[in-house]
Amino acid sequence: MLRGEMIEFAKDLIRIPTENPPGAHYSACVDLISNHLRRFGMRSKIVKAPGPDDRAYPRRSLLASYGRGKRNLFFHAHYDVIPGTDAKHFKPYVRSGRLYGRGAADMKAGLAAMVYALRALQLLDASLDGQVCLVIVPDEETGGKAGTAHLFEKGYIGRKNSVGMLMPEPTSGTVWNACRGAISLLVNIKGKAVHVVLQKDGVNAFEQMVKLSHALLRVKKTVERRKTDYAVTSGESRNSILMLGGICRCGTNFNVVPGSCSFTLERRINPEENLAEEKRTLFAIFDRFRKQGMKIDIEILQEGEAAGISSDNKLVRVLANSVKEVAGQKPALRLCPGLLEIRYYLQNGIPAYAYGPGSLAMAHSPDESVEVKRVVDCAFVYALTASDLLSKGKE
Ligand SMILES: [Zn+2]
Repeated sequence: MLRGEMIEFAKDLIRIPTENPPGAHYSACVDLISNHLRRFGMRSKIVKAPGPDDRAYPRRSLLASYGRGKRNLFFHAHYDVIPGTDAKHFKPYVRSGRLYGRGAADMKAGLAAMVYALRALQLLDASLDGQVCLVIVPDEETGGKAGTAHLFEKGYIGRKNSVGMLMPEPTSGTVWNACRGAISLLVNIKGKAVHVVLQKDGVNAFEQMVKLSHALLRVKKTVERRKTDYAVTSGESRNSILMLGGICRCGTNFNVVPGSCSFTLERRINPEENLAEEKRTLFAIFDRFRKQGMKIDIEILQEGEAAGISSDNKLVRVLANSVKEVAGQKPALRLCPGLLEIRYYLQNGIPAYAYGPGSLAMAHSPDESVEVKRVVDCAFVYALTASDLLSKGKE
């Protein structure tokens, strides 16, 4: 019974196009979750946060909890999704045991599994010595400033009495105990456009970009020799990453000296590297070229710390046992190749792990889907983990 209800709830969530950017339909989604919880007799608190263009796109987080007691276990999920590329992305359906739609894997079905884990604990009248705190956030896909970061800043989430956090990112059957950090830059070089025959009077932004890229490629060579000690999924690289040219725009015509040139730089750091240090290295290069007269303007598109936690922790032991009980096998621990909101919790001294029903290959894909059975399994895993970790008499 709960299974059907949970999948219907996941579908209702997918129907609301919470596309980010720009951060659309957030209020409708938060209201849907809040009303759903109210049907279970669970109250929720809605937290507003300032954000870019927040008149048109208000930012909202939702907090709710089940259980009583001092200890807090956080169930943390984001409800924003990357933009759909087809209207069908927001018309969810189930076919051959899979739920399709934007956010099915990342991570609306996982969010539904967490809500229904709470519902299951409530129906079983599980007497917990502690609370399972549901933290539902926006803006994860664009850095989490008006979501998770805001909740920490305002003290809605804190280290005191925390036993840990779980989040349902699409972990492909593994548990993620670490994530890469990122700094993504848009580099704009300003030159002076003139007709090719007058090129001595112009400033060629493209040729300047080539010089700058040479210096950046030397950094690439050094940093990409570094390898993480965290376990990675087979086929994935342990090496640190610096990639140039994801976006590259330049010039107006073949016979005009290019008056501007812009390109992106994507730096993905390992948990062993330090974001501030890596940022300094890059900015020192821009400064060096500025001193030589190059007009460089840098826009930071996103930045986030890398983070990691050991595999020897009570929360992850309980989680692994719950997975074994439900799915028959203990999960492997792996590094998430992308940014992950466990970083906010780990920076604040709260153990945090991701384990969710989707697969990484499905996240952000045009045919995003999730196996319904995995969603049901995850709801069991979350409920079991909470009841085991917070059961009375266990500290
Ligand atoms: Zn996600």
